[in-house]
Amino acid sequence: MPKRPSPPAFHVMVKPRGPICNLDCEYCYFLSKERLYPDSDFRMSVTLLEEYTRQYIEAQRVPEVTFAWQGGEPTLMGLDFFRRAVGYQQKHKKPGMRVTNALQTNGTLIDDEWAAFFRDNGFLIGVSIDGPPHLHDAYRRDKGGRPTFERVLRGVEALKRHRVEFNVLTCVNAANAPYPLEVYRFLRDEIGAQFIQFIPIVERDNDTGFQEGSAVTARTVTGEQYGRFLTGVFDEWVRRDVGRVFVQIFDVALAAWSGQRPGLCVFEETCGLALAMEHNGDVYSCDHFVEPRHKLGNMNVIPLADLVASDQQRQFGLDKRDTLPRMCRECEVRFVCNGGCPKNRLLTTPDGEPGLNFLCAGYKAFFTHIDRPMQFMAAELRAGRPPANIMLALAREEAERARRFANVGRNDPCPCGSGRKYKNCCGSPARRH
Ligand code: SF4
Ligand code: SF4
Repeated sequence: MPKRPSPPAFHVMVKPRGPICNLDCEYCYFLSKERLYPDSDFRMSVTLLEEYTRQYIEAQRVPEVTFAWQGGEPTLMGLDFFRRAVGYQQKHKKPGMRVTNALQTNGTLIDDEWAAFFRDNGFLIGVSIDGPPHLHDAYRRDKGGRPTFERVLRGVEALKRHRVEFNVLTCVNAANAPYPLEVYRFLRDEIGAQFIQFIPIVERDNDTGFQEGSAVTARTVTGEQYGRFLTGVFDEWVRRDVGRVFVQIFDVALAAWSGQRPGLCVFEETCGLALAMEHNGDVYSCDHFVEPRHKLGNMNVIPLADLVASDQQRQFGLDKRDTLPRMCRECEVRFVCNGGCPKNRLLTTPDGEPGLNFLCAGYKAFFTHIDRPMQFMAAELRAGRPPANIMLALAREEAERARRFANVGRNDPCPCGSGRKYKNCCGSPARRH
């Protein structure tokens, strides 16, 4: 049988230090992966590093490739490892190809030397921060149970001193979910983040650390909480920060409302182009499925391009679409949601079908809430105007509404046009608070 060609581009999250980390964040889904490799030293060898670099570049048929480093904590490999990585990239890159690096870190080990290296080599750094200290330290603690916020902040300050491009990755969990504005304003005003990702924590409660069972831990954010969190942030962002602060899920939504692909696997119709590679070259279908049944093979034995093109990986990606319950297939916001990430599909629908996303209620509420402003911004984009015009449009609309409501008496007809008295409609105590 002829071999299937590999896709023109794909991503691999590389874990050069496996799941090893200097912290012990309570909700981390990766620390338990240590059990997959008993007796391992969890260090990618330089031989494997070069071979991976060569194969990864060779397999990409696009002008730009990004190396993605993750963990555990990748900076535990030390700077020399990354100096070599950059050297191998230059050695193996194809003529005219642009090579970039993205590294996700807890930030605690970044000092001036790291930051200077990141700047000199154009690394994009993702730093995990869950909000101001009392919210960040709720679950992000070190091996001794001590808070980590101050150490993360020192790392961020080093990045800023050296003008390193960074984004913030905030895990939305049971502790910080009730405080969307406090979290968002802190990231924007105190951290100075321009690019923010909000990642919902849906953590299975089992002994394997795999995606199985339907129980979740108390740290998990509920669908309703997640929806309220995103809505709270959006309502502030859409009035003052459009074009200035970039929140990943808002960008994804605008792409979907503009008829484009969301560009984030979670909301794509199918997935399977974001794989994970362990420190020894074992390749898995996805970072969230580093478990034996989703291991594709080892790239020392089977070339990376063949692993990506394998039937197993193709099926993994197609299952995202093909196992959608009818409730999703008929949902009004499916065009942007697509049922979310399969790792979170642990509910059954009201009519008993499995495969409904744990966050469904939040996705539905949030995507419904943003429909009107998204339609406006998508129309602006189509007309070649900046989506940021939404801020002026909303300000005018709200000023006009304030004017109409300014002198209304309790027993007057409600200016909103409901036909009810003001005191029983927009003026009722329940609506005003
Ligand atoms: S399983 Fe989820 S995180 Fe993994 S590639 Fe698919 S959508 Fe993305
Ligand atoms: S909002 Fe819920 S029902 Fe609709 S596509 Fe998303 S997960 Fe499915």
